[in-house]
Amino acid sequence: MRILVVEDEEKVSRFVTRGLAAERFAVDVARDGKTGWELAQTYQYDLIILDLMLPGLTGGEVLRRIRKANSQVPVLILTARDSLGDKIEHFEAGADDYLTKPFAFAELLVRVKALFAGANLKITSGEWHELRVEAAGNKITCYYDGNKKIEATDDTFKDAGKVGLWTKADSVTYFDDLKATAR
Ligand code: CA
Repeated sequence: MRILVVEDEEKVSRFVTRGLAAERFAVDVARDGKTGWELAQTYQYDLIILDLMLPGLTGGEVLRRIRKANSQVPVLILTARDSLGDKIEHFEAGADDYLTKPFAFAELLVRVKALFAGANLKITSGEWHELRVEAAGNKITCYYDGNKKIEATDDTFKDAGKVGLWTKADSVTYFDDLKATAR
């Protein structure tokens, strides 16, 4: 598993890199947004950990370029900014998860592992308990309570058996029984 860390604060990047290397991940580091974008285009990463406030290109701009290039690589945003508006903005721009500094390495590791687990799963159409799911491409629509509807994309869920759908509103809705199958 190869991870790209885009972070300009040396203390943070060293802390993250050391921890990930100890978990046997291969880690590349970029100290600015432009280098991060160039590395992301050049190599096939399994995950990108991306700071927002970066010299050169901002993390938000790097993320938009990655998604515009049709890359589905999981992206975990790392930032000191923690307002709900920022979170929604970056989830809409295609981030898979979001961690606010300061953070414990153990929490980062849990999220990294969850992103790797989610990357190999796909939601399929069907009915589970009161929930009816229609999956078309990466668009997931869930109907419940008669005709109540949630729209989501298939890159928003996290684990088999426990599924979190990032909705158009500002919340994650969890369904324990939604079936996820291996891709
Ligand atoms: Ca920074």
